[in-house]
Amino acid sequence: MTGPILYVSTRGHPDRKHFCEILLEGLAPDGGLYLPESYPQVNAATLAKWRTLSYADLAFEILSLYIDDIPADDLRALARKTYTEQVYGTKEIVPLKKLEDGVYLEALSNGPTLAFKDMAMQLLGHLFEYELARRGEELNILGATSGDTGSAAEYAMRGKQGVRVFMTSPRGRMSPFQQAQMFSLQDANIHNLAIEGVFDDCQDIVKAVSNDLDFKRKYRIGTVNSINWARLVAQVVYYFAGYFQATERPHPNPPPEGEGAMPKVSFAVPSGNFGNICAGHVARMMGLPIDRLVLATNENDVLDEFFRTGVYRVRGSKETHETSSPSMDISKASNFERFVFDLLARDGAKLRYLFAEELAAKGQFTLGAEVLQAREHYGFVSGRSTHADRLATIRDTYERFGTMIDTHTADGLKVAREHLDPRVPMIVLETALPIKFAATIVEALGREPERPAKFAGIEALPKRVTVLPADAAAVKQFIATHCA
Ligand SMILES: *Cc1c(COP(=O)(O)O)cnc(C)c1O
Repeated sequence: MTGPILYVSTRGHPDRKHFCEILLEGLAPDGGLYLPESYPQVNAATLAKWRTLSYADLAFEILSLYIDDIPADDLRALARKTYTEQVYGTKEIVPLKKLEDGVYLEALSNGPTLAFKDMAMQLLGHLFEYELARRGEELNILGATSGDTGSAAEYAMRGKQGVRVFMTSPRGRMSPFQQAQMFSLQDANIHNLAIEGVFDDCQDIVKAVSNDLDFKRKYRIGTVNSINWARLVAQVVYYFAGYFQATERPHPNPPPEGEGAMPKVSFAVPSGNFGNICAGHVARMMGLPIDRLVLATNENDVLDEFFRTGVYRVRGSKETHETSSPSMDISKASNFERFVFDLLARDGAKLRYLFAEELAAKGQFTLGAEVLQAREHYGFVSGRSTHADRLATIRDTYERFGTMIDTHTADGLKVAREHLDPRVPMIVLETALPIKFAATIVEALGREPERPAKFAGIEALPKRVTVLPADAAAVKQFIATHCA
């Protein structure tokens, strides 16, 4: 490869940055999101070489195409420390399970918190620890969670040198299992703050604290939200791993053997903030032979609406439904801007206009012919799934295949079935295990979901949590007294 690997903002800011600079940053200075200047390309020979690698070494190969400011041996060691059989339970890390001819589930939720966010967050924990030690710095991560993100962040950062986590959550509003998962952590660098309020209050507090620039600088406040490029690039890896596994299996309708033709696969992705499927887009841009990227939403169908009509309309909190696939309950999709940047030929000025002006003023924008491009050129199709669909899909999957799936994965599978092509294997990304959303499983199946042995009885463990009022000053006070 030639030249350094640099990152640009989607809103056209002239700065070019290295990976480790953006690792600890959130948004670009102009409010945009970071993307690499160009996508490194793979070909049939690269894929043949990578096919036989362990997941950790595959991760290293992909990461090293995006990171040139961590020495290769260190990066390989970080990947190998992250993706172990001990942490993920299998040698494959993300094993593929066949449901029926041409339809697979890719298991992304066998990490410490049983949701796919572990796949990226675990790597982020090691990257943060490495980079902070190298700089001799500390970081205090402040976040708001209604479940999956907070627990994934805490399990990734627990015991890490130089990092503390202050995680706000709405008091009493997470499932008992999710509360137990987070509050049972006894690590000194993890602080659970149960806020007397709803999730929006928690988010408002995080915003208020982050907007106090003096406080933010003095206490080195950072975040781990899904717009972090490092999280996204870590997720690119399992698209490759899924591809390799699916194309090893016999397919009932193999594609014609064209000149140098590589078999294709499609992915169906339960989506909220567009982080997961954006990683699929990046994999496809790198040359991984992906036919369709099937985007599934729940009743919060901001993204399905866009891919059907070209209208991107963010929702207010009153219009945001509380559903039984709660990790997809979004009002706007924070990573979506990355895809629009590619869709509009990387026109930073146009992006700045759409996101900083039009969206801010009107709460929506409309793209015309470009939406056809999203389908024709970028492979995107979409669909939506409701509570009734989830129940029916969970029931059907259990009855026909003996497999219990969670509510988010059910949304993905439901929409995947609307876009099956008999010639192309469809890989549905399993984004959580059913135990995390037990109430809906009981509603669908009349029985409790299976619980992995390591989580037996966690609800009874001692809890480490501080209750605070919905007040940014109280949270600042807590941070200040725990940063000494
Ligand atoms: C976060 C999450 C999603 C949505 O992923 P995005 O990257 O936000 O699109 C889907 N399912 C589960 C279980 C999640 O935790």
